[in-house]
Amino acid sequence: MKQLLFEIYSQEALGEAVRQIQEYNGGHTVKSLIFHMYCGVEDEAWILQVRDSLMEAFPLAELCGISSHAEIINGSLTDPVILLSAMFFEKTEARVYFFPDILDQEEEFGRQARQIIDDTPDIKAAELLIQGAPVDNLTFLHSLDQCDPKVRIFGGYPIGHDLDHGRRFIVTEGGVFDNALALVTYAGRDFHINVGFTAGWESLGRTFTVTKAHKNTLYTVDDFPAAELYSRYLDMSVKDENFINNTMEFPLAVEDEGMTMLRHVAASREEGALDLAGYIHNGMKVTMSYGDPISIVSEVDVRAEEVRQFEPEAILIYTCTMRKIFWNYFINNEMAPFQKLATSCGFCTGGELNRDPETGHIMWHNITMLTIAMREGEKTGRVIPQVQVDTSKMHGQASLVKRLTTLVKVTSSELRQSLADLTEANDKLLYMATVDELTALYNRREIERRINAALDKAAQDDSEVALVMMDIDHFKRVNDTCGHETGDKILEGVAAVLNATVREYDGEAVGRWGGEEFFMLLPNNTLEQAVERAEEIRQTVELYPFPKIRKLTCSLGVAVVKGYEDKKAVYTRVDKALYEAKETGRNRIVVAEERHNPKE
Ligand code: GH3
Ligand code: MG
Ligand code: MG
Repeated sequence: MKQLLFEIYSQEALGEAVRQIQEYNGGHTVKSLIFHMYCGVEDEAWILQVRDSLMEAFPLAELCGISSHAEIINGSLTDPVILLSAMFFEKTEARVYFFPDILDQEEEFGRQARQIIDDTPDIKAAELLIQGAPVDNLTFLHSLDQCDPKVRIFGGYPIGHDLDHGRRFIVTEGGVFDNALALVTYAGRDFHINVGFTAGWESLGRTFTVTKAHKNTLYTVDDFPAAELYSRYLDMSVKDENFINNTMEFPLAVEDEGMTMLRHVAASREEGALDLAGYIHNGMKVTMSYGDPISIVSEVDVRAEEVRQFEPEAILIYTCTMRKIFWNYFINNEMAPFQKLATSCGFCTGGELNRDPETGHIMWHNITMLTIAMREGEKTGRVIPQVQVDTSKMHGQASLVKRLTTLVKVTSSELRQSLADLTEANDKLLYMATVDELTALYNRREIERRINAALDKAAQDDSEVALVMMDIDHFKRVNDTCGHETGDKILEGVAAVLNATVREYDGEAVGRWGGEEFFMLLPNNTLEQAVERAEEIRQTVELYPFPKIRKLTCSLGVAVVKGYEDKKAVYTRVDKALYEAKETGRNRIVVAEERHNPKE
């Protein structure tokens, strides 16, 4: 394949381009010829004249075009022109399909485009030059997600040459359109394509969750107005007439299907909502991001190496207009390495499209540089020297920004660490305040709090709560004969028995009431069930192989209490039942007398 590039800035330049294309065309085997017109001018009559001259001279050629903020030729930006790329393929079939009036026909056109891709034999790639809002391009793109996963899909959105007011259009053989879509298919066994994108923007600060969004409009994150991200963290007011320009260096990084996409702000709305340059959904994770020159350059270097290995014959560069604004004079630096690998051309976009080869999902990016490398035939193994971004002239700007981004990043990571430490310390404190050290059961304060809460709830629901109080029999003797340490071990064992019986998910709880006394809260138990549970504990303790002692027993008091009972009286009542168990011989259960509703 061969790519010829021309800057069409005058009638003479157009004539010369046609002549050179004719010359190449006449002297070589050409299966298909496709023109791309990247239009940095809005003069429709002139655009149509260029189109007419091309179609007249090459009636069998295919043609598409798009409005652009700036045009790229041989790895650098040109002055505003119509940049013409003529791609000659020896064995590949390149075809342009045109969809006018896409608005409200997104779904139908999505189906048709998918059909075209599916029906094109040996298709390797599809290019989309696609209009942005108000066209619902997500609907359109979703249909194409279903295509054969081997088909690489890439493309770009038009943008006005004058950023804010410029006309955004698509060019086809049929004319210049504000509401259209061009689909280019590249098909052939010998056609090879390698599409990749580089971002390099780094997330900064904490993560927010989108709480309200619709299409391209972000209303709230973490329930506060989206514009507050910029006012609170970057001191940028929406009232400032330069607000949009100011936000450009700090796009949002959003997570979608495991991929990070950048979104820059296109407009601000009332009540702090922001229109973004791409879709956004509820629940997506969002962080602020900032262009870190070092990261950007190293990503470009990685991508340039991939392209070098691919041995391209032609390269398209569809790079976000925001990158140009970000880099300013240095934009050429990040494109230049590709030019050393093959002829390159393209444009500054209003958004980039790249199909993720793993998920098949067509991602709509902002702020990326899409590099599309093409080749016909197998690799020849010819040696191409490695290329890299020349950073020698960039150090002043790069190092300052790099240092400031490092400052912010390290500060936020330190803050995150402090927050984690604090949370951990809080958790520990909470644990210490609620848990008994020896037995790891709740302490008295916590079990009492839980019982009281359960009683309050029972008062509301007019229901009942079962309570069990337990005391180890003759525990003093254990201490006296086996020592305090063994006594402690036995308390731990008893605690384990109790802990194994409670069903926390049912609101049950057990705590150490004091020395060798324990209290259980059993909210959803009848008196019979509570007695049964107490009996189970009594038997388990009796049979439990505690260290150094032959046998241990315990006494239990059981009561079912109503919510309306006085709390103090409740505890006394349970305590009395336990006392009675002790008095009547120990190793037994006594049920507290039922209290009658004093109001009845
Ligand atoms: P009763 O059957 O009447 O309950 O007899 P008892 O000996 O268990 O009752 P008493 O209340 O007289 O004694 C409780 C003993 O529990 C006294 C104390 O030494 C012991 N004790 C309290 N807390 C701990 C503890 O944390 N560790 C150990 N090892 N013993 C404890
Ligand atoms: Mg005791
Ligand atoms: Mg006691």
